[in-house]
Amino acid sequence: MKKVLAFDIDQTLNVAKTPITDEIGELLVNCLDYFEVCPISGQKFDQFLIQIVDRLPNPTPAQLSHLHLFVAQGTQYYKFDTEKNDWVQIYNYPLTEEQVAKISETIEKSARELGFWEEDKLMEGDEIIENRLSQVTFSALGQKAGTEAKYAWDPDCKKREKIVKRCKELAPEFDYEIGGTTSINAITPGMNKEFGMTHLLEELNVKKEDILYFGDMTQPGGNDYPVVAMGIDTITVRSHEDTAFALRGILGVL
Ligand SMILES: [Mg+2]
Repeated sequence: MKKVLAFDIDQTLNVAKTPITDEIGELLVNCLDYFEVCPISGQKFDQFLIQIVDRLPNPTPAQLSHLHLFVAQGTQYYKFDTEKNDWVQIYNYPLTEEQVAKISETIEKSARELGFWEEDKLMEGDEIIENRLSQVTFSALGQKAGTEAKYAWDPDCKKREKIVKRCKELAPEFDYEIGGTTSINAITPGMNKEFGMTHLLEELNVKKEDILYFGDMTQPGGNDYPVVAMGIDTITVRSHEDTAFALRGILGVL
């Protein structure tokens, strides 16, 4: 019997960058009665709240105490404090300013060289490169672009693979991972989901075999692959619909 259900977010619990559906919200709240539930994603803390926590239907503080937010690939960890009735940060491993500057320059240069720097398509106030403290994220069309445009931009990951290849030539000291629909996450080596999952094991005091992980980018080079490579049991999903199907199955047999 697994003790922990861990989830990638984009394309695993939701349609990339949008709040989870009512169905996923209900399933997750049900899971909190039986499992420690750990979303782990490259996104920032506020997006975890907007996309997941705020969408859960009437969770009790006791249920929330079983929800563990592994933000920015688990380089930041937030836990619900039932006494304060609020989320508290347990740890944080940020990049240095120099690292952020170097990564930002490298990605912009690579994307420009390849003709994939689409500044003209950005909405007002949006940005292509975002400093997420523990990682720097390239989103080809910005954060606010429509889902359809994002899906259409690089469905086979070929553009991002080219950008990553060039980034690796220019600044090989960082790792670049493809995620979501238009994103590349740049991190210092090891600051990927393996880092997050390793800390999860420690923080929750569980073993690898206690965890079942759900992700959509489990192929080598994808941002869920480090979890697979660690030997954690993984279910590869195509969308949140697959995840809902699997969760209904798991909850159904309890
Ligand atoms: Mg994903």
